Amino acid sequence: MGDKKRVLVKFSGEALAGENGFGIDTHILKFIASEIKELVLNNVEVGIVIGGGNIIRGVSAAKDGIIKRTSGDHMGMLATVINAIAMREALEHSGISVRVQSAIKMEAICETFIMGRAGRHLEKGRVVIFAAGTGNPFFTTDTAATLRAIEISADMIIKATKVNGVYDKDPMKFIDAVLLNEISYEKAMDDSIKVMDDTAIALAKDNKLPIVVCNMFKKGNLLKIINGDYSNCSVVKN
Ligand code: UDP
Repeated sequence: MGDKKRVLVKFSGEALAGENGFGIDTHILKFIASEIKELVLNNVEVGIVIGGGNIIRGVSAAKDGIIKRTSGDHMGMLATVINAIAMREALEHSGISVRVQSAIKMEAICETFIMGRAGRHLEKGRVVIFAAGTGNPFFTTDTAATLRAIEISADMIIKATKVNGVYDKDPMKFIDAVLLNEISYEKAMDDSIKVMDDTAIALAKDNKLPIVVCNMFKKGNLLKIINGDYSNCSVVKN
């Protein structure tokens, strides 16, 4: 690794669905691709994890007991591969070099996750999309994203969301809600805040990985954050 900035950006599957609430909206893909391109053009090494919630989640698939939870989770992980392929297409369409690496081997479709190989791609300026979560049921893509961020020694993980960050109270209900610029890992685990699931936050804490929560729909936001401007987002750190 050189002195370049390296970042892991996590998008929820739902973000890709846009107003449809389901499936993949190519306008959103195009917007995300343009934001990621901005990073690449500024010499940032970028890893991406996308969830699968726009297609299926293990817990909901298994809710009536017909589908086993583990099978539902397999379905959820496959959903993340679908999203990863869509994102790869959008990035390639915008002229970016990109590789998908899946935690579950599917060699006709994409590479399998190999840490060293992912590192080489990143050094060469390729975006790497990490698909299929951790490859294990009972985990989330937030945990997968945190794990990959640590494995590739990212400077930070950015959780790109629909909101600006974490507030002291619900900004939809209270007009005097204040955006919290800095919060501790312990606070981030609070039920009222829940930046990510406990597993993901514990992993980030143990490895001193800062988690930045920001608004993905504000143009230029990702680059701004990577350049050290945290004024309009929340940073979880010690
Ligand atoms: N999943 C899993 N193991 C992982 C990551 C994900 O089993 O390591 C499954 C799980 O069923 C989850 C689904 O994949 O519900 C989609 O991921 P997630 O819910 O994290 O997506 P998001 O909410 O970010 O769209």
